[in-house]
Amino acid sequence: MKILVLNCGSSSLKYQLIDMEDESVMAKGLVDRIGIPDSLLSHKPTGKDKYEVKADIENHDVAIKMVFDALVDKDHGVIGDLSEIGGVGHRYVNGGALFPQSIITDEAVIKDMETTFAMAPLHNPAHVMGMRACQKLMPGTPMVTVFDTSFHLTMPPKAYTYGIESDVAEKYKIRRYGAHGTSHRYVSKRAYELLGNENAKIVTCHLGNGSSVTAVDAGKCIDTSMGFTPLAGVLMGTRCGDIDASAVTYLIDNGVVKAEDMANYLNKKCGLLGVSGVSSDLREVENAAAEGNELAQKAIDMLYYGVEKYIGAYMVAMGGLDAIVFTAGIGENSIAARKAILESLSFLGVKVDEEANNCRGEERCITAPDSKIKAFLIPTNEELAIARDTLELITK
Ligand code: ADP
Repeated sequence: MKILVLNCGSSSLKYQLIDMEDESVMAKGLVDRIGIPDSLLSHKPTGKDKYEVKADIENHDVAIKMVFDALVDKDHGVIGDLSEIGGVGHRYVNGGALFPQSIITDEAVIKDMETTFAMAPLHNPAHVMGMRACQKLMPGTPMVTVFDTSFHLTMPPKAYTYGIESDVAEKYKIRRYGAHGTSHRYVSKRAYELLGNENAKIVTCHLGNGSSVTAVDAGKCIDTSMGFTPLAGVLMGTRCGDIDASAVTYLIDNGVVKAEDMANYLNKKCGLLGVSGVSSDLREVENAAAEGNELAQKAIDMLYYGVEKYIGAYMVAMGGLDAIVFTAGIGENSIAARKAILESLSFLGVKVDEEANNCRGEERCITAPDSKIKAFLIPTNEELAIARDTLELITK
């Protein structure tokens, strides 16, 4: 069966068509600047040339129609007819406590989703726009939604509760939800297979533009670094990570950043970019640091230190640690980041295998055979995880 995976953002849409016979990607692409002049569809059919269309794409209905047209096009298409798509899997950023697992998505489920919009105001409404477009354009094709938050719903209350008044937290549903759950689930599942021990205690480090660290004990998430929104935790590309809320109110009180601009400031102007003043892209920050830029070096040190602290904290939370997993853009590609983070744990008997670690994007163990705690590089694949859930639920 062929499954279309859709990740609809507020002004962009990413897609992959996956043939579940062999889990191969038939085509993938991106529609950018939806609702903004000069939108762009970039479509890459496997084994064929990339195809791009520049046009004003006014909304998600139009964007998805263009994706469908590209998929069945006689030159750059990969299927003869839309009826070949057996199901659509949608990514959903924050389903709150309402959606503990992936779910077949019908009208009633979409209505429930509409109550979660406030939890990810940029993302959740856009995901539903994508579902509505599919309902219109391919009625009858089953849809499944996979939530970034589901994997984290096994956290105990002591890990997800903030120290604010209980009735306020309850009324406004304020708690730690975490993010990147589909990725943490995917790579931890693979780590359990590699370890051959389903009771292992694992810390998964999804380090990319957005980064999060998760404690997985016997397959269940027990804590994670992102919070109510994906702003919390370690230093990220443009997000500040953990910060004292008083620093935020202080900036507002002193007129440095207006209250209404604060979310944008903390999410878009801070992190590696804000600290280094160079870039949100770790490669550029690494280059600047190598040329002697001290702020760039400080930003890198902060990123590593944040990850190291979470690993330490989660080792205590789980009462031990068997393995550490690195994934996503930085985790899969930054040899220096993995080496530095693991070397900080050498007092625990962690021994990096430098030769094994000297690679990018390949699944492997990167610690020496006598290392007390193993570390793995495991490339993430959230689209495949979504496609697998979709297939499983619609064929049940
Ligand atoms: P997103 O969270 O947007 O999906 P990615 O997972 O693609 O982001 O991660 C992007 C990050 O990965 C950027 O900071 C980028 O610099 C970093 N990255 C990619 N390749 C390398 C590399 N070779 N060395 C260091 N960092 C890298």
